[in-house]
Amino acid sequence: MQTITILGSTGSIGVSTLDVIARHPERYSVFALTAHSRVSELAQQCLQFKPEVAVVGSAEAARALEPLLRQQGLSTQVAYGPQALCAVAAADGCDTVMAAIVGAAGLEPSLAAARAGKKLLLANKEALVMSGQLFMDAVAEHHATLLPIDSEHNAIFQCLPQAYGRVPEAHGVARIVLTASGGPFLKRDVATLEAVTPEEAVAHPNWVMGRKISVDSATMMNKGLEVIEAHWLFGAPADRIEVLIHPQSVIHSMVSYVDGSLLAQLGNPDMRTPIAHALAYPERIASGVGPVDLAKIGQLQFLAPDFQRFPCLKLAYDALASGGSTAAILNAANEVAVQAFLDREIGFRMIDQLIQRVMDRLPGRTVSGLDDLLEQDREARRLARDCITS
Ligand code: NAD
Ligand code: MG
Repeated sequence: MQTITILGSTGSIGVSTLDVIARHPERYSVFALTAHSRVSELAQQCLQFKPEVAVVGSAEAARALEPLLRQQGLSTQVAYGPQALCAVAAADGCDTVMAAIVGAAGLEPSLAAARAGKKLLLANKEALVMSGQLFMDAVAEHHATLLPIDSEHNAIFQCLPQAYGRVPEAHGVARIVLTASGGPFLKRDVATLEAVTPEEAVAHPNWVMGRKISVDSATMMNKGLEVIEAHWLFGAPADRIEVLIHPQSVIHSMVSYVDGSLLAQLGNPDMRTPIAHALAYPERIASGVGPVDLAKIGQLQFLAPDFQRFPCLKLAYDALASGGSTAAILNAANEVAVQAFLDREIGFRMIDQLIQRVMDRLPGRTVSGLDDLLEQDREARRLARDCITS
């Protein structure tokens, strides 16, 4: 029996994870569930999965959750705040952690799971983008098992040899090809992008996801973050990581080998596939996702990305090339910009402009440790907020 903590259980990835777990009660039990503010949804999940611990974002949310659980006769312990998240991620009571909190808020609990040597299923790409080397060092030092959930990285993982070890040359890997749908604005006239609304930006053509990653998909910052994520996960330099637009989202990514072979993983666009893959790895279990019907799909298309349409993708490549804390600065500025866009404080095209401005004013530097990194993150957020309000 695998015991699991789900960080961010009320989110899109969290709900899909519970869907897969519910299909295999003989294999998985839930140790802890966490949610930021959606208390009644969390209470429902607790009723179904009976975790030992439930964590929420604030004392107020904890006070709201407690009676809901007791009314149902549940003895689930209630905790709140960032330290409680780290505690359930590192607890002896769980062996597997699904890291599915969105944004930088997921960094410390994800790192806590790595430092506790857990099997770590990483959806929270921002954590790895921010902390890069620090994160990979923690995984190696504490013998954690890191399995990618992001569909592209999970696909790449499936196309690499089992004992890959993050050295492309040692395995004849020539390039990693990350596919991207291009999001809702792939064909829209660039001149009209400034006027797009949050509702249009979160309406992804193929995937149903949380709001932040949906906006990231519309700007293609999501793919930029994924380039950085791939760099750390697979030890590939930026010039060996290629982005290819593939509007159907059937090929989730590919690995190109020196002998000319190109290996791809295909599937319907449903995150339960990578989640089930990582949960059961190296075995395979049913995920609830049906087979791909290629005859029905008929055609697969591919095109090169356009940096003019998607400047955020270029900014992410730049951040990776700069190294140090630059990716953390990019990530922080992006989080602030996306939130401001969702709150209708800034227009869509201001997202990339704001990130560029923050990166120009705050050059990245070598990171001495987690506290230093978090300070850089705060600094970048302050600067981004200043740029919005001034
Ligand atoms: P979501 O917005 O649907 O869910 C986010 C979860 O995090 C919620 O449970 C929420 O309660 C929790 N949360 C938010 N802010 C928090 C905070 N400050 N402290 C503690 N918990 C907090 O997001 P999602 O779409 O499920 O994405 C989660 C992560 O997975 C992101 O990093 C995203 O990039 C990544 N991811 C998602 C998908 C997808 O299909 N949704 C695919 C690939 C990767
Ligand atoms: Mg992805």
